[in-house]
Amino acid sequence: MKLYNSLTKKVEEFVPNVEGKVGMYTCGPTVYHFAHIGNLRSYLCEDVLEKLLRYCGYDVKRVMNITDVGHLSSDADTGEDKMLKGAKREHKTVMEIAKFYTDAFFADCAKLNIKTPDVVEPATNCIDEFIHMIAVLLEKGYAYKAGENIYFDTSKLDSYYVFGNQNEDELMVGVRDDVTEDENKRNKNDFVLWFTKSKFEDQALKWDSPWGVGYPGWHIECSCISMKHLGEYMDIHCGGVDNMFPHHTNEIAQSESYLGHKWCNYWFHVHHLNDETGKMSKSKGEFLTVSLLEEKGYDPIVYRLFALQSHYRKPLVFSYEALDQAATTYKKLKNRIASIHEDGAVDDAAVKEWHDRFAETVGNDVNTAMGITLVYDVIKSDLNGATKRAVINDFDYVLGLKLLEAPAGGDSADNAEDPELAAHVEEMIAKRAAAKKEKNFALADEIRAKLLEEGIELKDTREGVVWSRL
Ligand code: AMP
Ligand code: ZN
Repeated sequence: MKLYNSLTKKVEEFVPNVEGKVGMYTCGPTVYHFAHIGNLRSYLCEDVLEKLLRYCGYDVKRVMNITDVGHLSSDADTGEDKMLKGAKREHKTVMEIAKFYTDAFFADCAKLNIKTPDVVEPATNCIDEFIHMIAVLLEKGYAYKAGENIYFDTSKLDSYYVFGNQNEDELMVGVRDDVTEDENKRNKNDFVLWFTKSKFEDQALKWDSPWGVGYPGWHIECSCISMKHLGEYMDIHCGGVDNMFPHHTNEIAQSESYLGHKWCNYWFHVHHLNDETGKMSKSKGEFLTVSLLEEKGYDPIVYRLFALQSHYRKPLVFSYEALDQAATTYKKLKNRIASIHEDGAVDDAAVKEWHDRFAETVGNDVNTAMGITLVYDVIKSDLNGATKRAVINDFDYVLGLKLLEAPAGGDSADNAEDPELAAHVEEMIAKRAAAKKEKNFALADEIRAKLLEEGIELKDTREGVVWSRL
């Protein structure tokens, strides 16, 4: 497998620390609000990466944190406390907010067919680990106390800007929301490890520490939580591209200072989903959530397809026109697959051959668009129906597009493969519906049985009647 590594700025052959095993970490959501579909683009691409690694035979352990404390509205320790802001907005406690939005996040992920990582750890579970790491950093001289907070001293490092190539403007992105300088900082990029003197009088969550009652900075949680579950050496660390600075830069600074050796080998960054006016946000313009897409009648998996049609390393612009196109593509693709008869016996050798082709093609830096093209190649190939379906099912482990599930109700009408059959089935479905309405269930059952004899199966779903060929 090949992966672009933000540390070296090159596509590299992926070699894990331990043969056959992968330790993977994902920066999780800050649970003060719903995730927007931009956030979810990152999680979706990370999900594909995880499944692709498994598809290629690796034994993957993936860990994700839940930020329920310490994240201020600017990533560089300034601005408001995000969790407190959420609690005030909804007149709830911080823990209620955290619980509600954590559940909402995983519900959205499930709708997008994003697998839950093997370990999910809220930051508030790991306060002792944070305190331990901060104490070691102080002891080793990488941290200092000022104005009653503990800061990481970036001047102690040989190299701080590990992701390089950033000009001063880009470096300041993290502090874009707020211009107030923290006068306790010895160097511009120093960051808070532990707050005791909080500017928020009503700070809800506080813990005792050797430096006084307070709460952790945001960056420390990812270093500690990943080490807790993956040990001192990690293979892949993921996040959105905005996390590169300052978040991941700071994670590396503190982790490697603590460990005294290199920490993570590959850094995987997903570029942003933008709306037509620019960067997506929870506070300006339409707040694009999975639920909003559903309210507008979109199947969330259509958004998954939309995201997978582009490369994760390119910014993607969201528009409803583009989503409509993805919806049409999805409908046609599903109908084509539904019309593949399950004939013949599965040719295992052919399935293996296509599996290897998919692993190599998509394994070239997570090329999901090429993966979708391969689905069309299989459909057009001269494999028998049973083998085609087996290969598509195999690909769909990574793509997660539910390609073999029956198409949604009514949509079968424009079955491009056989419009005559589609028209006939739709007519029968309409007759059956009329029979049911008149409470003539015997006739309704008769129609269903007749279709079954013709090799057509009907299913009643919440979205309506769905049909497929047996
Ligand atoms: P947050 O909940 O703000 O910590 O963000 C969760 C994840 O979404 C992080 O990995 C961010 O880097 C990522 N992210 C934020 N905005 C976008 C966006 N517009 N497109 C893609 N990923 C994003
Ligand atoms: Zn993180």
